[in-house]
Amino acid sequence: MTAACCQPALRDISHFEAAVRRFRTEFYERDPEMMHKLATEGQAPATLIISCCDSRVDTGVLLQASPGELFTVRNIANLVPPYQQGAGLHGTGAAIEYAVRDLDVDHVIVLGHASCGGIKAVLAAADGHPIDREFVGDWVSMAMNATELYLNPDKSGIRQKVSLDLLKENPGLVERAAVTGSLHNLLTYPWVKERVDAGKLALHGWWFDIETGDLWKTAGNDLHLMPVI
Ligand SMILES: [Zn+2]
Repeated sequence: MTAACCQPALRDISHFEAAVRRFRTEFYERDPEMMHKLATEGQAPATLIISCCDSRVDTGVLLQASPGELFTVRNIANLVPPYQQGAGLHGTGAAIEYAVRDLDVDHVIVLGHASCGGIKAVLAAADGHPIDREFVGDWVSMAMNATELYLNPDKSGIRQKVSLDLLKENPGLVERAAVTGSLHNLLTYPWVKERVDAGKLALHGWWFDIETGDLWKTAGNDLHLMPVI
């Protein structure tokens, strides 16, 4: 056992408390009506955003959203599992269901990002290095389809077969394909598809480049992402 004296000190998080004080000043003191309304009338966000747990891609910070604007679900690699009935701890599905069926959001954004550790793990697994974790491997294996699209593109609409080495050098290809895959999976939820077909819900795929600040997006019904910023 390591002696207590030799353990590194835990990093200080006391500045978060100061941050809450500033938050209170900014929102409760400068705009008490908005906070009172949110507290008494409940939330009515227009947007559900599904993003990665990655600390570098914080949805509230990136979108500069106010309280009540975004309903957020975060998971490793911003993945949407395909619709599955039956018992199970469907955390992401539950958040999607509540946002769509109860909050009646108008938009769903799946936000991917560059340098995603989850996608990197998928590429490593494809290269013969299985993920040595209890839960992460099964979860991110959902994104293996995105990798397969490039390795075996016959039925995917992707024009050119790409080597695994090239994908490892350009993981953005897989990160964006995984966003498209999640959008397709969203359409397997019957109440999502119903609302999309009726024009009551719009699906968006976004991908954010941490290094440059660039943003890629889908346009309309085309679920493939293109650079916009
Ligand atoms: Zn990520």
